[in-house]
Amino acid sequence: MAWFKKTRKPMATPAKEKPSRVPEGLWVKCPGCSQVIYNKDLAANLSVCPKCGHHFRINATERLRMLFDGEWTEFDKELTSTDPLGFTDTKPYKSRLKASIAATGMKDAVIVATGSVEGIPTVIASMEYGFIGGSMGVVVGEKITRGIERAIEAQMPVVIVCCSGGARMMEGALSLMQMAKVCGALARLDRRKLPFISVLTDPTTGGVTASFAMLGDLNIAEPKALIGFAGPRVIEQTIRQKLPEGFQRSEFLIEKGMLDLVVDRRELKSVIAKALRFMGAVTAVTPEVTAAPPVPEPAAQG
Ligand SMILES: [Zn+2]
Repeated sequence: MAWFKKTRKPMATPAKEKPSRVPEGLWVKCPGCSQVIYNKDLAANLSVCPKCGHHFRINATERLRMLFDGEWTEFDKELTSTDPLGFTDTKPYKSRLKASIAATGMKDAVIVATGSVEGIPTVIASMEYGFIGGSMGVVVGEKITRGIERAIEAQMPVVIVCCSGGARMMEGALSLMQMAKVCGALARLDRRKLPFISVLTDPTTGGVTASFAMLGDLNIAEPKALIGFAGPRVIEQTIRQKLPEGFQRSEFLIEKGMLDLVVDRRELKSVIAKALRFMGAVTAVTPEVTAAPPVPEPAAQG
């Protein structure tokens, strides 16, 4: 007997507007102002509409390119999910993983890397929405945790760029445990007095919001990002009330004191660097400077 077999059909979801990923091709229409933008211009503007400031969703690699000064070193690139539950919904989890690996060229929904941000050595975890909705499974939790542990070891600050639908349901309770694991690692980081900045991008929902995304020493969001725990449709159905305009968007949340800053993507890097310096992070000393002649030992007293 299958205990967890789903006999009822899932609820039909209403057709939504197309997601705002930048499509392939020469031109793209801005969902904010309907302006047609040349794709190269958009890329040069960090995927922000030059006319209305609409922030297009960008992938994990573009995010790292935007934040780091240059090259970065990626950690645990080869970690992959083992499908511990042998889960199948509309299709097997194994084939979902395979399809996402083929589509993104990544093994799971996060890149954890170290590099420098305006000269400050930093560990950045960047989540990839294109990989099963940026969901947090065992691999995402483990990679972020290891990244934080590396930061503790090397005395570096941590920046996590969230872009996730929440915990990965295909890994059941195991994915929920990642919330506690990452938070535990962040607590150890905090005890070492190392800064953690959380960057919330569109969308940051579910178990990610409910754990590390809201734990930053500074919680910075991009404009108009969807940030919440349950989705607006679920809340509307539960409380049987129409939700206010702009509910769960960055601007609404900062008004309610849930966020510290809403920052335009084009200023994000300098704001992060400024905050890190304020919190005591130090700029790496260039090798030429380190290679100064050793200070002669003081003569023995006697
Ligand atoms: Zn626009």
